[in-house]
Amino acid sequence: MNSRTIAELVFHLSRMSSGDRLDEKLTTAQWAVLRYFALANRFSRTPSAFAAFHATTRGTASQTIKSLEKQGYLTRIRSENDKRSIRLVLTEKARSILTNDPFESLVRAADSLPKNMQGHFTNALQRMLGKVANERGKLTFGTCTSCQHLEGNGCNQDKETTYACGFASEPLVLEELDEICFNFVLGKPLQ
Ligand code: SF4
Repeated sequence: MNSRTIAELVFHLSRMSSGDRLDEKLTTAQWAVLRYFALANRFSRTPSAFAAFHATTRGTASQTIKSLEKQGYLTRIRSENDKRSIRLVLTEKARSILTNDPFESLVRAADSLPKNMQGHFTNALQRMLGKVANERGKLTFGTCTSCQHLEGNGCNQDKETTYACGFASEPLVLEELDEICFNFVLGKPLQ
């Protein structure tokens, strides 16, 4: 398969899964915010991280986020470590409409791939994203499983797997490894 075909297929997949909206009360930009906050890790649930992810201005991102807060889809919480810092989280109302999101068909398609193919596919997409972001001077987002800052893959005395983020100097629970992060730096994929 040639490179142009791969690029077209990736683009087509993205268009197909984000074009329809089941709930006409929300705009495409508002859907993008809800999808982002459903995926982002705790370090990345801020308006500025969303602005970087969606390649939009902070002002535009803030306006869209404020409109979703007013409609009861997002709520603000203060960080336990730094009381000045605010994180945004999805409400139950948002989680409920996201279960009917057309984007879920893409999630199911990814889920239907064999596990080893999912790993290769993730690495390939991550590398492509890195190239495009680099060429365009944008930040690369990614998950802990292929980030340079991921530390630890051993087990503690209770035979639980332990991980930590070297960038934030904070422990990570297993479920967080698949969430997307603002501070990601491409490294060696986790085996
Ligand atoms: S290990 Fe990397 S991706 Fe994971 S939280 Fe830390 S900076 Fe983010």
